[in-house]
Amino acid sequence: MSTILQNGKLDRSAVEGVVREVMRKRLGRSVAAGKPGYTPNLVVNISARHMHITQETLEHLFGAGAQLTVMRPLYQDGYFASEQMVTIIGPRHRTITNLRILGPVRPENQIELSFTDGIALGVHLPVRMSGNVKDSPGCIVLGPKGYIELKEGLIRAQRHAHMHPDDAAYYGVKNGDLMQLHVKGSCPTTFRDIICRVSKDVKLEVHLDTDEGNASDLPNATNVELARQ
Ligand SMILES: [Zn+2]
Repeated sequence: MSTILQNGKLDRSAVEGVVREVMRKRLGRSVAAGKPGYTPNLVVNISARHMHITQETLEHLFGAGAQLTVMRPLYQDGYFASEQMVTIIGPRHRTITNLRILGPVRPENQIELSFTDGIALGVHLPVRMSGNVKDSPGCIVLGPKGYIELKEGLIRAQRHAHMHPDDAAYYGVKNGDLMQLHVKGSCPTTFRDIICRVSKDVKLEVHLDTDEGNASDLPNATNVELARQ
C-alpha cells in the first residue's frame, strides 16, 4: 500500500487510490468498469399479458380515428397501459378477454402472453425477443368495432433487462449479453439468460412475465440482484 502521509501532509491521490482499492475489493469488478461511484437503481417488474398494436389495426378494431388513451403510465418514460382492451380467440375457440393494449402504437402487431396463457388459449408459444414474431402462432383479435385475423404475433417474451449505457458499464455487459437475476424471499429463484437491451432512452428495469413473477413470489421478494453469468 502506498504512503498516505508525506511530510505530515495528506497525499490526496494516495487516499483516492486506497478508496478505489477498497471499493474494488468490496464490489468486485463492477466499480472499476463503470463510472466511479455510480450505483444502479435496479427495478424488477412483472410484465402482464398485453398487446402492441399498429395505428391501422387500432382503427380497424376501435373505429376510424381511434387513439390509445392512458390508463396508467409505465416505469419507462413515454410508455403506458392504455384504457383499450381486446379479446383474443385461439384455434379451438378458447378466448382470453380483457387483454390490455400498451401504448404508444407500434409498426407491428404483437401479443405477449405467459406459458399459462398459451395453454389456456390452446397454442404453443415460442420464447422470443420483442419484435421477432416470425412463424409464431396467430389468433383472432376482437375489438368493439371489428376484428382481424393475425397470421402470427403470439409470443412469450424472453426475460430481459432494459439498461442505460451507464448501467451496462457498471455491470460490464453490452447489448445482447445474458445475465442472471437472483430473487430472494419465500421462493428464492435464479433466472438465467436475462438478455440485456441497452439504450440511452431507458432506465434499468428487468421484465419478467406473470409465470416467472409468481414462481419466484416477486411481489414479496426481500432482495433482487442482477449479475453477470
Ligand atoms: Zn420490456
